[in-house]
Amino acid sequence: MLTSSPKAPNDSPSLWHEGDAVEVVIPAPLPTPLTYRVGEGQTVTKGSIVKVPLGTRQVLGTVWGPAEPGRMDNRLKPVIDTMDVPPVREPLRNFIAWVADWTLAAPGMVAKMVTRGEELMQREPPILAVRRTGEEPAKLTDTRRRVLEIAKPGESFTKTGLADLAGVSVAVIDGLVKAGVFEKVWLEREPGRIEPNPDFDPRTLTGGQADAVEALIAPPTADTPSIALLEGVTGSGKTEVYFEAVANTLRQGRQVLILLPEIALTQALLDRFAERFGALPGEWHSAITPKARRQVWRGTAEGKVKVVIGARSALYLPFEDLGLVIVDEEHEAAYKQEEWVSYNARDMAIVRAKFEGAQTILASATPSVESRVNAQAGRYQHILLPARYAARPLPSLSAIDMRRTPPERGSWLAPPLIEAVHDTLERGEQSLIFLNRRGYAPLTLCRTCGHRFECSQCSAWLVQHRFTQTLNCHHCGHVEKLPDACPECGSTDTLAASGPGVERIAEEVATRFPDARSLVLSSDMIGGPKRLKMELEAVANGEVDIVIGTQLVAKGHNFPGLTLVGVVDADVGFGQGDPRAAERTFQLLTQVTGRAGRADKPGMGLIQTYMREHPVLGALLAHDTERFYQLEEEARRRAHLPPFVRFVAVVVSASDASAARTYAANLKRSAPTSEAIEVLGPVDAPMAMLRGRHRQRLLVRGPRGRQTQTYVRQWLAGAEKARGDLRVDVDVDPQSFI
Ligand code: ADP
Ligand code: ZN
Ligand code: ZN
Repeated sequence: MLTSSPKAPNDSPSLWHEGDAVEVVIPAPLPTPLTYRVGEGQTVTKGSIVKVPLGTRQVLGTVWGPAEPGRMDNRLKPVIDTMDVPPVREPLRNFIAWVADWTLAAPGMVAKMVTRGEELMQREPPILAVRRTGEEPAKLTDTRRRVLEIAKPGESFTKTGLADLAGVSVAVIDGLVKAGVFEKVWLEREPGRIEPNPDFDPRTLTGGQADAVEALIAPPTADTPSIALLEGVTGSGKTEVYFEAVANTLRQGRQVLILLPEIALTQALLDRFAERFGALPGEWHSAITPKARRQVWRGTAEGKVKVVIGARSALYLPFEDLGLVIVDEEHEAAYKQEEWVSYNARDMAIVRAKFEGAQTILASATPSVESRVNAQAGRYQHILLPARYAARPLPSLSAIDMRRTPPERGSWLAPPLIEAVHDTLERGEQSLIFLNRRGYAPLTLCRTCGHRFECSQCSAWLVQHRFTQTLNCHHCGHVEKLPDACPECGSTDTLAASGPGVERIAEEVATRFPDARSLVLSSDMIGGPKRLKMELEAVANGEVDIVIGTQLVAKGHNFPGLTLVGVVDADVGFGQGDPRAAERTFQLLTQVTGRAGRADKPGMGLIQTYMREHPVLGALLAHDTERFYQLEEEARRRAHLPPFVRFVAVVVSASDASAARTYAANLKRSAPTSEAIEVLGPVDAPMAMLRGRHRQRLLVRGPRGRQTQTYVRQWLAGAEKARGDLRVDVDVDPQSFI
């Protein structure tokens, strides 16, 4: 029987030479590998990364194994070149096949996340250097003597480097080369690397922390799973605890991957890592240089980079011997990738670790409902850190009922919050005012004719940004100038901003607290990661009194002087057609209020709401995490929602609305009937148009486990081909429901 995804068979030391036919997984949406002929003078093995022709292009593929006997044919296209990198190892090939199978993606599209591009495979060009020979110079000047004191026979230096060290001009070195005292040599450019030292600067752990570490590093037995959920309130020392697990793995000589949901969090963790281990780890995310990318990629493949801290794409690095994977802030939606291959890096991390014989640690103050359920079912070890480090209390939380103490007209901060900010300023401490909405106003409308500015390519309002004087679509990136006149009725000075974004809150803060130093922190502020890093440091150093921020500041950061967190609108997240809305709101508000009082002064959280009676809010205010999870699990179980069922979203899109509608309706009709699995829809997706494409949404609901994917695969394989610009996107375990 044929399966649609290639299984990586057991590694045998097979080599294939010129003329042999091999199967190569290539980066194209094909269900199976293609067959190529090994070219002249080449030798390949399973996992070799090769350059092969594909149509008129050349692409990087991965050798999967020998072709079926009888496939040899002189018309087969030859492999062009073999890359000078270690072959993709068996555990990683198995992982690629597994991810493809699970996400219903083409294996080649998954493999592409490993091989990426040819540039990554290049070695740094060698550099010209000089090496001291055994010759002695006939004439010994002062400057020459200085050079020879530094360079002993057999040692190599770059010319400028040596001149610099000796405090002489390069001409002196050139003279010595002429005299035969030095010879020119080419040096391989090996990045200088200090290895992280597990014993560099260990912390003294509290009793609870030490117990947690012990549980984490205990060798797995038949009944302790090798996956741990490390759940601890904000500031309990989860990072310190998992660092000890890192140390343990380093002592075994194995590699470690630490995943973070956002680049904004990496710098702080890199610094903490360096303090603990005396060296920087490898860093991997979209903002590193191509050179750093090459070094980390090759370094992990050759086992030289021991620890990588990175974004979700680091999951596909070719580690030589991965012993531990940590997923920090495991509940974060940012772990879900939705373009190309839709996968959740948290779930896939567990699978990668299994194939590698590695351990997984999921860390969070507010775990996902999925992980809590898994821990309760005994699939994960559940390790708890119930108290903050050094007996620091959790912030005291209270709600501001917006019906009883509403803000003044045209403003957004209620009197009790304003008063609390005043008091905090007076004590010389910091406040954070949180609103998870970028820009100045979420909607702009004309007071004369009621015209609302909407994106022409998406079903979304344009968000007004004051700093840039623009209207922006936060879905497709479209930007236009904020006009002077209404495009509908032509009136001038009638455009009104409706509702607040962080920029508007900042405006109010500036008028109410003119002497305070305030700062807006939001992911779309200009300056990129460097600027952000400086601003976060400024906040940590107490150079700012009031921070106005989006979810960017909610997580992970340590601001010692911050004692007040005010939440402008706690209700934003409730009651949308998203089964995870309550969970997200609970997590976000716990995280953001958890920023308060992390150092020696107690913290306070004030939450503005019109829904004081909402049970999620009640659990949050009481710090009753258990109650929240109980409520939420019960509600999901009753409503047949994940994680008690499996959802697979199938989105049909086309530039023509009726084409999308017709195809989706036909697709629905062709769905096989099944006892256990139902197909809901099609309906207009909540974002009925996105980037100019009209979208119809079908939702498959079935049991957990593979059955639901198998159903979808068979259904789609038997369906009418999507022609023209019709596209069918499949998302297993969808996170967003737009
Ligand atoms: P979490 O990741 O749970 O939010 P952190 O690991 O960031 O908590 O710890 C919170 C703060 O307490 C940090 O400043 C951390 O350095 C400090 N801390 C926690 N445990 C210890 C310890 N055992 N020794 C010294 N400092 C600690
Ligand atoms: Zn108008
Ligand atoms: Zn748009």
